[in-house]
Amino acid sequence: MALKIGITGGIGSGKTIVCRLFKILGVPVFEADAVAKNIINNDPDTRKKLIRLFGSGIYTPEHVIDKKKLASIIFNDKYALQKVNKLVHPKVRNEFALWVEQQKARYVLLEAAILFESGFDKLMDQNILVVADKEVRIQRVMARDHISKEQVLERMSKQWPDEKKIKLSDAIIKNNDELLIPQVLRINENIKKYGKVW
Ligand code: ATP
Repeated sequence: MALKIGITGGIGSGKTIVCRLFKILGVPVFEADAVAKNIINNDPDTRKKLIRLFGSGIYTPEHVIDKKKLASIIFNDKYALQKVNKLVHPKVRNEFALWVEQQKARYVLLEAAILFESGFDKLMDQNILVVADKEVRIQRVMARDHISKEQVLERMSKQWPDEKKIKLSDAIIKNNDELLIPQVLRINENIKKYGKVW
């Protein structure tokens, strides 16, 4: 069975770019956020339960989740996010388990924005964190998403700070002005040679 390596990073840290580099090396990447979104939009059981919890208005007439409505529900009900996670996370976990069994590679990556916050890190053999300074991340996300500094800070405030995640990580990839490719190659070699990211 392939080794399972979790990879995460705060908003704008560059984890998507880092995962793209691993993919170029042939490493299979399971995109947990995209899978969760797909489950919320398309899994009949999840749809039924979300409607039971929050009403049919939770989906738009086009049958996709109404993100604004969900955000306002979560803002007003402190247990709402927990309820959604309780529904969706076990299904993501199952999909990952099935997916990983089919992979022939030495190791796979599970990319998740909330790897540690969700406890998915505990299902992995090791975990990688991508970091960049807060100011750098703010500037990158403002440029990428055309949003204000306040909006970036608001999104950041919902994630754990890097200091907390660093303690739980087995390897750190720095993405301020450090070169990414050598860092990715080193981790790739370590896993292939020693079965560990360091
Ligand atoms: P999110 O969690 O918000 O999806 P992310 O961690 O996946 O963020 P990316 O989308 O990979 O981050 O990177 C954020 C933005 O910063 C992108 O527009 C990306 O092109 C840019 N970026 C990332 N790394 C660098 C870098 N080393 N130099 C310049 N731009 C970068």
